[in-house]
Amino acid sequence: MTVYRELGVRTLINAKGPATRLSGGIMRPEVATAMTEASQACVDIADLQAAASRIIAEATGAEAGYVASGASACLLIGAAACITGLDPGRMARLPDTSGMKNECVMVRSQRNFYDHAIRATGLAIVEVGLPDRYAGAGVRDAEAWEIEDAITERTAAVFYVADQQARPPLNEVARAAHARGVPVIVDAAAQLPPQGNLRRFIAEGADLVAFSGGKAIGGPQASGILAGRRDLVMAAALQHLDLDVFWDMWDPPATLIDKRRLKGAPQHGIGRSCKAGKEEIAGLLTALRLFIAEGDAARHARWLADCETVAAALQGLSVTLTGGDDIAAVPCVVIQPDPARLSARDLCLRLQTGDPAIVLDPAGRDQGLVTVNPMCLRPGEARTVGDAIRRALVES
Ligand SMILES: *Cc1c(COP(=O)(O)O)cnc(C)c1O
Repeated sequence: MTVYRELGVRTLINAKGPATRLSGGIMRPEVATAMTEASQACVDIADLQAAASRIIAEATGAEAGYVASGASACLLIGAAACITGLDPGRMARLPDTSGMKNECVMVRSQRNFYDHAIRATGLAIVEVGLPDRYAGAGVRDAEAWEIEDAITERTAAVFYVADQQARPPLNEVARAAHARGVPVIVDAAAQLPPQGNLRRFIAEGADLVAFSGGKAIGGPQASGILAGRRDLVMAAALQHLDLDVFWDMWDPPATLIDKRRLKGAPQHGIGRSCKAGKEEIAGLLTALRLFIAEGDAARHARWLADCETVAAALQGLSVTLTGGDDIAAVPCVVIQPDPARLSARDLCLRLQTGDPAIVLDPAGRDQGLVTVNPMCLRPGEARTVGDAIRRALVES
């Protein structure tokens, strides 16, 4: 690949999935073409975001949508929107939240590295629930009443991280928050597939939801979707767009920004550093269309075929195929190397320093497991991965 050769950077085979550390996944040619085409003409970026809003609204069932540089960026501008509303003065003062609602309620067991995006706006996270894993007294985690109890007049939002295991259920959290007039922001960055999750969190009561553009959707690595209430998306847009405008000449698209609701033009906001260019927006919208058109069943079959190729190369070794009969799951191949010969850790290391370099998922290494995730494999690579693992396990 010429560009990487010129830069002196080696490419890798990504058998771990769309990790940002590994530069995400592989875009379809149609997505790359959309980005190239978008790069060849200038547009008013707010008009392009208004088109994105319409398309995202259709795909998610939300009132409005927006594109920023990742799910993390979308969480940041979504949180900012919940603090400021449509007040340009407040927007200008962030992350100084003096005199504003400056707390965000979150279930303690959902705390994670990405909640930095929420804290970056000036919000303090108020943790609730005690996921007691040590006393052996049962793991109850947080309950909806605890969230409701933690909401005060300082609460700007409830922040919820979607996951199959997430407790309490989102609809209960939304009911508790809405009873106190507080919006719920959902981090659903990696919750696709299944495709139904594009609509699910909004349907369950989320006021804002963030999805990664660069994960299963297959859009540009530096893109993310924010979907939700029209007024909150408007507040997020106003803190993200470049607002080097003259008020009397500024005519933003009314479906995204209702100028009549503003007392003046905000300045560049806290989200200005989460920029998404026309190329990312066009690429993401194209990828979203293709993601929906392909459907869970065809996508699952495509991934499963790669898993079966890897598993076939490893016949006779300790290998399990997971998620093979669940089209809502990403099927994976899980390998259990004989630790007396080669540990899970050393298998990963050997492949990632090999030629070609292959990155496997070492998350299960403490249980002696290595995973092959097919999401970012290119045609033909499954065979290469299977053969390389076989060589490493048999020759060691
Ligand atoms: C990947 C991920 C993010 C970040 O998404 P980006 O699109 O890379 O910004 C946030 N939260 C969770 C739970 C994730 O898995």
